Amino acid sequence: MRVSTAFNRLLQIPGAWVDKVVIGDRDVEVTLRSKSRLLNCPCGQRVSAGYDRRQRRWRHLDLASHRLWLIYDIRRLSCPNCGVRTEEVPWSRPGARHTRDFEDTVLWLATRTDRTSVATLLRCSWETVTAIINRTVDELLDERRLGEIYRIGVDEICYRHPHKYLTIIGDHATGTVIDIQPGRGVDSLTTFYDKLTDEQRADIEAVSMDGSTAFRSATEDKLPDATICYDPFHVMQWTNRALDEVFAAAMTTNRADFNMSSGQWRKTRTALRTGAERLNSARGHLVETITAQNHDIGTAWRMKEQLRQLFRITHPARAPRYLRRWIRRAADSGIRPLIQLARRLELHFDGIINTIKLGISNALIEGINAKIRLINARGYGHHSAKALTSMIYLCLGGLNPQLPTRT
Ligand SMILES: [Zn+2]
Repeated sequence: MRVSTAFNRLLQIPGAWVDKVVIGDRDVEVTLRSKSRLLNCPCGQRVSAGYDRRQRRWRHLDLASHRLWLIYDIRRLSCPNCGVRTEEVPWSRPGARHTRDFEDTVLWLATRTDRTSVATLLRCSWETVTAIINRTVDELLDERRLGEIYRIGVDEICYRHPHKYLTIIGDHATGTVIDIQPGRGVDSLTTFYDKLTDEQRADIEAVSMDGSTAFRSATEDKLPDATICYDPFHVMQWTNRALDEVFAAAMTTNRADFNMSSGQWRKTRTALRTGAERLNSARGHLVETITAQNHDIGTAWRMKEQLRQLFRITHPARAPRYLRRWIRRAADSGIRPLIQLARRLELHFDGIINTIKLGISNALIEGINAKIRLINARGYGHHSAKALTSMIYLCLGGLNPQLPTRT
């Protein structure tokens, strides 16, 4: 069998024949020629004659230990619609210097492991990995159709301390991130609303958010008919913070009684935050002991568990009365963080009840928060909003990168 025939079978490059193969010590260079006489303009128009040509190399997936390069005389064409453009080739995205298969492999790996591992495995620089992710995600987003959105969730994330924020907008139905805007002010959310069509804006029946007044006023301004809800995720975050404060205050005033190391302190605080049904026996015992030992911690912990039950109530019609009674008990508890929390929940009363009536769950915002923690832990996006934004879209934007070898 001839070498070019063998490589035709092995590589199966769409739209091209293998013309020539040069096998070096470390590299294999495969020269291609187009199967079709017609040239494809990126606009979809097919043109019969080239304008000029220039050799281009694409890095393809490795062939064992050899780097594999595709070489092709890429042509410019004169399109009746768009003038002189570079022809589109099926094995690569426009303007790319890596094949589609190489890029898709980068994307798939990037959702699962850190950038350095991707770069090491594919033998390229991690700047290349970042550049592929940024550029390809932009292109995939352009192709994505959002369709109808009924219930959205808005959250802010801090990607660099201090004061570097992104506003993230997600779809409750699909759990995907639909948009990301810099900042966390009125403008950030307004920019997103302005991008939607009138019809899309009218379709949105509910917007869930944290207690941010900026998100609230942007929504009231642009979507006057939408119901504003407060995510259970954020309500429980406020509650856990109040519990932390009660715990810290009790520990400081009764330091001698408890005599905890900082490790034990952290372990206890985490156990207190954990939902009662998710505690293992050791942590359950820890919670039992400390809540019995200290009155304030005991009260704050029970109140936290009771508030969690609010979001699992089987008859939403009973929720307003349940929440009303909870707020009264917290306000009368004589424990400062609980009194402050009671005031806050009173202020957001309608929004919390709306959440329960509409059945808005934690899933979207919890998913976003967990994924961003993971992305940050893997070292993406610490320093650049662009890199983090691309990674969030890649992991949560419903882009679903697929491996080229998947059949
Ligand atoms: Zn064209």
